[in-house]
Amino acid sequence: MFDTAQYRRKEVEIQRVDSIIRMLPADAHQVLEAGCRDGYITLKLAEKYPVVTALDLKLPAIAHPRVVCVQGDITSLAFADKSFDLVVCTEVLEHIPPQILETACAELLRVSRRYLLIGVPFMQDLRVHATRCVHCGSINPTTGHINSFDQKRLMSLFGNKPFTRTEYPGRGVYKTNRLSYAVYKRFEFPYGSYEQEEPCIHCGRRLEKPRLSLPARLACLFAKGLEYIQNKTGPSESPVWIHVLWDITVQDSLKCQ
Ligand SMILES: [Zn+2]
Repeated sequence: MFDTAQYRRKEVEIQRVDSIIRMLPADAHQVLEAGCRDGYITLKLAEKYPVVTALDLKLPAIAHPRVVCVQGDITSLAFADKSFDLVVCTEVLEHIPPQILETACAELLRVSRRYLLIGVPFMQDLRVHATRCVHCGSINPTTGHINSFDQKRLMSLFGNKPFTRTEYPGRGVYKTNRLSYAVYKRFEFPYGSYEQEEPCIHCGRRLEKPRLSLPARLACLFAKGLEYIQNKTGPSESPVWIHVLWDITVQDSLKCQ
């Protein structure tokens, strides 16, 4: 099983959460967190803001006097336009199928009357820690991340509106190469992120780690060694996440002039 408590103690995760908290605007009252999962960020939002709506596909269970839990889908939000001073959506957009990604972003913009804070992995190599589903045989990118974002793509999804602030928290080298990936693929991705909470993106069933023969294990160790050399000698570390804060009224006021 995925150990959430252990993950929260990791340095990159601490840097991610610190960045979100640092970027939060002071002047907001009603806040939506779209895709709140276990409510880890929600509770931090509730320390700062009086009313926090926590939304997820499954009805969240977050017991806090300032938190309202709502079941919903970010591609079709059941809120009126401009319902929230601040909309926070982190670690969500990388999971949204590309054909409905623009809709999701448009919905987040629609329900915000001022601020929008978005966080996604930065230029993630989706081949790293890919998995193969033992049930349907299909390949899954790591932890169900379907989309990879650079700054240009993320900005264009939000209409290239002028942003207020960006941060790139976390540093690391998480890349693979064609040969290592081909070997992993041949042997059913033994180093995939099988402990992840997310099920197979194709059939929805739980991912399970494959059992490997000795020759397969040796081949995969070789591939891993190659990856290690690549990451040691290749380009230096890059950011793990990109966080963007927009004040969408800035562009609105410019338009009015
Ligand atoms: Zn499957």
